[in-house]
Amino acid sequence: MPATSALTLSDRVARLAGSSTLAITARVKELRAEGADVIGFGAGEPDFDTPDFIKEAAIEALRAGRTRYAPVAGEPAARAAIATKLRDENHIHCEPEDIIINVGGKHSIYLALQCLLDPGKEQEVLLPTPAWVSYRPIIELAGGIVRELPGAVENDFKITADQLAAAISDRTRLLIINSPSNPCGTMYSPEELRELAAVLDAHPQVVILTDEMYEKLIYGGIEHLSLGSLESIADRVITIGGLSKAYAMTGWRIGYTCVPGDDGAFIKAMTRLQSQMTSNITSFCYPAIVEALTNGGEAVEAMRQTFAQRAELIHSRLSAIEGIVCPKPTGAFYAFPDISAYFGRTSPKGAKVHSAVDFAAALLDEARVAVVPGDDFGEIGRSHVRFSFACADDLIETGMDRFAQWLGGFSASP
Ligand code: PLP
Repeated sequence: MPATSALTLSDRVARLAGSSTLAITARVKELRAEGADVIGFGAGEPDFDTPDFIKEAAIEALRAGRTRYAPVAGEPAARAAIATKLRDENHIHCEPEDIIINVGGKHSIYLALQCLLDPGKEQEVLLPTPAWVSYRPIIELAGGIVRELPGAVENDFKITADQLAAAISDRTRLLIINSPSNPCGTMYSPEELRELAAVLDAHPQVVILTDEMYEKLIYGGIEHLSLGSLESIADRVITIGGLSKAYAMTGWRIGYTCVPGDDGAFIKAMTRLQSQMTSNITSFCYPAIVEALTNGGEAVEAMRQTFAQRAELIHSRLSAIEGIVCPKPTGAFYAFPDISAYFGRTSPKGAKVHSAVDFAAALLDEARVAVVPGDDFGEIGRSHVRFSFACADDLIETGMDRFAQWLGGFSASP
């Protein structure tokens, strides 16, 4: 290698951090490959396999030769199935032309923000936090400026209408709402969303991106409401969804975007961008989308019930530990406890813990339990770690035993 390489990075990529959640997953795999017995609460994906009938649809399509380029925005039947689902279940008035199918929900959000934001224009994106780790990098790569709106633990990490009203300015271009939330595991009630929408009524320049990736995994008795169904704001709502979480299809890479407010113009722009990037998603996956959305109800319900039981289990175990404060999960598959009572103290094997990063590192090293430190989920996440309960009950029990025992070995409060 020459001392100075021509391969210097662009400023924006040099500044870009990799996904910390994917990094934890990779570290756990590494440790397991070395023979370590790690209980993994790090991964943001269901532990279930994709239901067989969905796989069969793709296998059949592959055998039938669906192996060529497809329309960039997606095959008509798959776009139609998504539009039907969004109309029937989410009450969003949309047509197949208002939908583009992307390479996972992350890609959907990436493309939408590239289409919406301009570098150098100082456009602000209001981001309720704690928020999924990828929003900030995606916003910044598109040239936007992140303005965090911290949600209080006592309010299940949700922002209030007053908070939103106070944060909106002439520079506000976009509000992102993610309900149910990664990493909080909590969700907004329909009433709370209507209150936020009432604030937005007075600010017609603000676009709303609602990330509903976890809409089917809810179990706290709170109904899911799609912001795109609210008439007063529907023409400026971008709805993001996908098959990754609800159908245990994270590796398939299927997400979608619905924007019905401007006669398909925004979707056409996203399609142009996607045409210069990935083109269509994998062709033989389209029939699997139709199959999942048309016949997947029972399979999703079985997984939802399992997550509901696990939510109860992990929450009761976490709440029983002294010094841990954790809102009850009502959706998705995450618990996001405040662990700051242990900051300034020494772990059982002598690590000084001053942050969630220290805490998670010591927990993995000493007790072989993997969690994600809250730092990358926003400023307010720094006192927290994320537990993903996408693992079986016995693993949750063993992991919680280890966790409680490990915490019990900490030095006393300073
Ligand atoms: N949005 C949220 C809140 C997520 O947690 C994730 C994945 O972790 C995504 C979007 C992206 O999902 P996908 O795997 O379909 O790209």
